[in-house]
Amino acid sequence: MEIIQNPQEMQAWSRAKARAGATICLVPTMGYFHEGHLSLMRRAATLCDLVVISLFVNPTQFGPNEDLDRYPRDFERDMELVRRERVAAVFAPTPDLMYPQGFQTEVRVRDLATHLCGKSRPVHFAGVATVVSKLFNIVLPDAAVFGEKDFQQLAVIRRMVADLNMPVKIVGHPIVREADGLAMSSRNANLDPANRAAALSLSTGLQLARTQAAQGQRSTAELGQLLTRHIHSFAGTAIDYASFVDCDSLEAVETVDARTVLALAVFVDGKAGKVRLIDNGYVLPQQAD
Ligand code: AMP
Repeated sequence: MEIIQNPQEMQAWSRAKARAGATICLVPTMGYFHEGHLSLMRRAATLCDLVVISLFVNPTQFGPNEDLDRYPRDFERDMELVRRERVAAVFAPTPDLMYPQGFQTEVRVRDLATHLCGKSRPVHFAGVATVVSKLFNIVLPDAAVFGEKDFQQLAVIRRMVADLNMPVKIVGHPIVREADGLAMSSRNANLDPANRAAALSLSTGLQLARTQAAQGQRSTAELGQLLTRHIHSFAGTAIDYASFVDCDSLEAVETVDARTVLALAVFVDGKAGKVRLIDNGYVLPQQAD
């Protein structure tokens, strides 16, 4: 497995592999790996000849008061985990290599980026779209895998790739959860184990909405009230949003139907300050379920 820091070297590596006839699947990550990341890497290995992962905590997708400094990092541990997977190369640049002096280009997806996380994190998706564009130009992948846990991110990337005719197949991968239902996240390392129930309020809230909808409650206003009460019943929770949205447009809907996704972002008290968790899922069973 090769570890490459320099964008030019990465491009040269990918070009050489492509010339030799190999296809490449990219898994972009910010590191501090858990089973969710490993599951994406295994999925990538089924899609192309070679898997490249990128590991870069991208500063431009964090707002000024967000957790860039507290974001968990452990490069050695990550490399140990990744060496056990079928990963051909890790692209791990520094911020200076990605954003050298004079950098001034931004990729912005307009409407999709304004909903949900975009409201409280106004710079986030421009940071994501820009860095993913750069990663695509550097790694030159045929395909890329993104987790459905970051549901809005996946929608933004799909839109960007379609709008800009990027020759990369985008594959979404289902949410990987802990045994108790908590969606895996690098940020879970900052949770307080004594406050686990509060962190579980997202997945149990999702289940609650599903149960109510299955019993016939299709009003998102009613479901939203139940959900808010449920989440607030745990100490130390603050809801950023709990929104019932259309799976494509991400616009809020009044009535639940087969396209309705419940998207949640909740702050919970962690070991050192609040931890922002997200989760989502279709409210009604999907045909493949
Ligand atoms: P991150 O390192 O948090 O930026 O995540 C890298 C990729 O892994 C993104 O495409 C995420 O959506 C995906 N991912 C993170 N957590 C999970 C999870 N629990 N299940 C599935 N995919 C995930």
